[in-house]
Amino acid sequence: MSSDKNNIKVCPLCGSRLVTEEMKCKDYFVSGETFPIYSCGECGFRFTGNVPSEDKIGQYYQSNSYISHSDTRKGIINKIYHWVRSLMLKEKSSLVIHFTGLKKGNLLDYGTGTGYFPNRMKKKGWNVEAIEVSEEARTFAFEHFGLKPKLPSEMDSFGEKSFDCVTLWHVLEHIQDLHGIMDKFNALLREQGMLIIAVPNRTSYDAGRYGNMWAAYDVPRHLWHFSPVTLANLGNMHGFSLVEMITMPFDGFYISMMSEKNRGSRFPFLKGMFYGAAGWLSSLGKRERSSSLIYIFKKK
Ligand SMILES: [Zn+2]
Repeated sequence: MSSDKNNIKVCPLCGSRLVTEEMKCKDYFVSGETFPIYSCGECGFRFTGNVPSEDKIGQYYQSNSYISHSDTRKGIINKIYHWVRSLMLKEKSSLVIHFTGLKKGNLLDYGTGTGYFPNRMKKKGWNVEAIEVSEEARTFAFEHFGLKPKLPSEMDSFGEKSFDCVTLWHVLEHIQDLHGIMDKFNALLREQGMLIIAVPNRTSYDAGRYGNMWAAYDVPRHLWHFSPVTLANLGNMHGFSLVEMITMPFDGFYISMMSEKNRGSRFPFLKGMFYGAAGWLSSLGKRERSSSLIYIFKKK
């Protein structure tokens, strides 16, 4: 299934050829295949190798059920999930309002999924545009919220400098044309516009604990494995300066639980809660230990 075409040996971030294989990771969710993760000796960027081409990667997104159906705690987990989602929606909308300094404005949510976040912003009076590749998710967003997410290819219909804020919640790590998309966001944002990016953090407590079984490597769907340094560098290369870095406490619990499953642990839920808590405590002193981070960029 894998293609050698994208077996990149040049760092996609800085162009260095000082690239070595850091580890091998398994695709635990869909294919069971193994993919290498490369590391750049110059800038420290990590990225997945042997990534299937764009026309084949869809096969690796078959399983949407990251929460196992056979899990007897499904009821509890689902309740927690919905509670966390509503807390996160509140937090995300507060961040947009706080960092743009606007009560109402124009927002682009890239990789919107089923549309909960743009729906919340719409309710707050914002003009929202959303981009989503999954047809199923676009239909959900329309039927439930009346939103009409567009395809990435339709982004040209947006005017330059027409947005106050662009958000990507756990999306950038899936996008193949990393530099192209960052340039696009720069063009779409007005001067001093905000770019808000949430991604897993490979320098986190849980990444260190679980090594190549860390669930947020999620190969081959996650192409890029950012650290605070490499994401700040990427932003800088495309005309953005990093103004703030915010921890995401809940992700660590979920990622730890999934990583425990990957290791074949007998009590993934309990252990996930325990090590999620350990990671959260660790991130209180050092944000770069947080499982995921929200990066707030401002257009220079
Ligand atoms: Zn590099």
